Amino acid sequence: MAGCVSQAAPSEPWLQNVSIVGVKQIDRIVEVVGETLKGNKVRLLTRNRPDALLSLPKMRKNELIEVLSISTGCLNNCTYCKTKMARGDLVSYPLADLVEQARAAFHEEGVKELWLTSEDLGAWGRDIGLVLPDLLKELVKVIPDGSMMRLGMTNPPYILDHLEEIAEILNHPKVYAFLHIPVQSASDAVLTDMKREYSRRHFEQIADYMIEHVPNIYIATDMILAFPTETLEDFEESMDLVRKYKFPSLFINQYYPRSGTPAARLKKIDTVEARKRTAAMSELFRSYTRFTEDRIGEVHNVLVTEIAADKLHGVGHNKSYEQILVPLEYCKMGEWIEVRVTSVTKFSMISKPTSQPEDDDSLVPWNENPWYMVIYPLLFLILLLSTIYSVDRFISPGFVEEWLPFLADTETDPNNDWYMNALERDDVVFYE
Ligand code: SF4
Repeated sequence: MAGCVSQAAPSEPWLQNVSIVGVKQIDRIVEVVGETLKGNKVRLLTRNRPDALLSLPKMRKNELIEVLSISTGCLNNCTYCKTKMARGDLVSYPLADLVEQARAAFHEEGVKELWLTSEDLGAWGRDIGLVLPDLLKELVKVIPDGSMMRLGMTNPPYILDHLEEIAEILNHPKVYAFLHIPVQSASDAVLTDMKREYSRRHFEQIADYMIEHVPNIYIATDMILAFPTETLEDFEESMDLVRKYKFPSLFINQYYPRSGTPAARLKKIDTVEARKRTAAMSELFRSYTRFTEDRIGEVHNVLVTEIAADKLHGVGHNKSYEQILVPLEYCKMGEWIEVRVTSVTKFSMISKPTSQPEDDDSLVPWNENPWYMVIYPLLFLILLLSTIYSVDRFISPGFVEEWLPFLADTETDPNNDWYMNALERDDVVFYE
């Protein structure tokens, strides 16, 4: 096991018989796997050692995307959080190492997107006398033409100090206009109980500034519902915030107590009530969309970096990090393509290249093409009838008569009354 939970609570009963790789021991994974395969139980949990080198060899899930962790730990002490117990205080990777890692990924390994991650992106540098914009300004210098950078999750408190510089970075042509700011609750009382160190007003200040200064910015957020002290009024405030901003991505988490955290000692909200709140917010989220019908016909440049789950489209993103699906036959992974939106869904827009004629039906997914809705059933019917005919003619004579009498050709069936009567009357002449 690896990760925050096993690091923070290794004595949990379900972790007793497994090897554990602590969050500061990831560079020793080969050793741990080797020993475990020999039947030994290994538990490397000490945090009293430096973080693993950024340059450790890695296998990318998507070879076009470099996921770069810029720091470990954070400066907060949220009362529900287990991660803090595992990862501890903020440790920022040095600026020069991060820039070199990004440079090598882009220029030597051919990645097309750089995703910055950490527990709290906004806090980067505070432990080494720097701030996030210092890093971002250096990183954009090593992004080659045709590649992009995406910022990761950032809590409100620290980016509040740098709104102007962050907006400037998000407007850079090689940076997605995308921000993930986890608000968790819109009630100041709940935020205080969570020890989040900001208020609803702070969150709104950031969101409003970015909406005003970064055209078409895409703001994602997270909500924790049914935190132990959340009243119905508090919950309504969170619903109200979602109604106000209509976040295109909203991660809804029903509160779950993590053992050893301060919040876990509080009395839980009734499970049925908690589920009701989760369902209500999920329904609200489903009720609106960023991708409205009036966007059909829009033209976008998208960078395609992966294949969609339907295996029929490539997944591309425009400057605002909106997901735009492009028919796979026109995609070249890692390249930009100009497309026109042909239809919309809750989470994405479907498109076709502007280089293709607008009425080219071959670009419409088969299950949305009205012609295929007629042709496929017809082909199926023809196939079914030919199979029945073959069975009746060559494999099991009399099959149709016995099992599908409504299909039997009574005019030529030698067993029908007319035929038998004709034979008896000698009306039938056989020719040799
Ligand atoms: S939830 Fe709070 S304490 Fe936990 S990692 Fe995030 S910022 Fe840190």
